[in-house]
Amino acid sequence: MINTLKCFVACMLVLFSMQMAMAQERLQSPEQFLGYKLGEQFTTHNRILDYVNYLAAQAPNRIKVQEYGRTYENRPLVLAYVASDENLPRLEQIRENNLRQANLLNGQVQGAQPAVAWLSYNVHGNESVSSEAVMQVLYDLVDPNSAQSKEWLQNTVVIVDPMVNPDGRERYVQWYKQASNRGGNASPYAWEHWEPWPGGRPNHYYFDLNRDWAWQTQIESKNRLEVYNSWLPQLHADFHEMGPESPYYFSPAAKPFHENITPWQRQFQNTIGDYNRAYFDKNNWLYFTRENFDLLYPSYGDTWPTYNGAIGMTYEQGGSGRAGLAYKKEDGDTLTLTDRIAHHVAASKATLQATSEKADKMKQEFRKYYQNNLKNPAGEYKSFVIKGGELMLAT
Ligand SMILES: [Zn+2]
Repeated sequence: MINTLKCFVACMLVLFSMQMAMAQERLQSPEQFLGYKLGEQFTTHNRILDYVNYLAAQAPNRIKVQEYGRTYENRPLVLAYVASDENLPRLEQIRENNLRQANLLNGQVQGAQPAVAWLSYNVHGNESVSSEAVMQVLYDLVDPNSAQSKEWLQNTVVIVDPMVNPDGRERYVQWYKQASNRGGNASPYAWEHWEPWPGGRPNHYYFDLNRDWAWQTQIESKNRLEVYNSWLPQLHADFHEMGPESPYYFSPAAKPFHENITPWQRQFQNTIGDYNRAYFDKNNWLYFTRENFDLLYPSYGDTWPTYNGAIGMTYEQGGSGRAGLAYKKEDGDTLTLTDRIAHHVAASKATLQATSEKADKMKQEFRKYYQNNLKNPAGEYKSFVIKGGELMLAT
């Protein structure tokens, strides 16, 4: 009787682990889930959310989704937290530890502390490749067969905002679907390459959300910054697009740098450039650095995090509202949405690899940044209070 019982329990355990393994093997890629290859058409906001939620349902040990607000047009704003099996259940402890490292919370750091990287996609709605690329990035991170992702997640928590500006992006995507030829017309003169005013770049109120980090006048920024400030990641990467004729852009940013950007932050601009270069050179993809994109204005998605102790960076793919599914460039080459996706996926991976491999130094410099600012602040004033047209300075 005992032997029969033992056999029954053993069989059940085997069956259970087989089921778990099959569930993991069954994890659908974006193509399997959506029914088309990424890059063949634009994916709407609701379908992108469906896929993110699907991943969370299939791999609850690896990814968790949080709705952090709604846009003016009532579209959900979400964050996906991706972490190792050990770290995902203790996200709240990791968040508190991170604030302790910045002296914003009392107490000792509890347990092993990973680095925190935050990746934001599609703040400009018609720079539409970003939210296509993010589905591949999330799949690769969650994929149980990816040894690389597993390794990175050992010491890194990744927070992903798949679509910072859903109202703007949906304005572009719906217009493109109506205006385009099936499969896309690469001729730059085709209607689908001439997005009408106001275009998908801004949000519902035609406000540029990549000018709103410091001022937070828009509901998307208010909601996002509340969560962002409760985490204070060590790294923030912001995924964009520019005109279709340009090769890819990544850090280091254009000089001059603001005087308060620390030597470590300057140095890491080069480090992140080196990591990206390795990915792009391997594929013979063109890119440029050190031009056009600066770190001066404090309300960008790269500068605001930089002025808050993180490594902040912008990524720019050639494309935006001009490029559609395919665009014939002046040099005769055709830029496709598929190419654009591949580049942003590679830059995302280079960023996470850099974070994971430099995690200890990043955390150490992050702590130093806040300690220095407590003991020897760069500015004369702790805060500026602005009320009713008067400016009061508090020391
Ligand atoms: Zn942009």
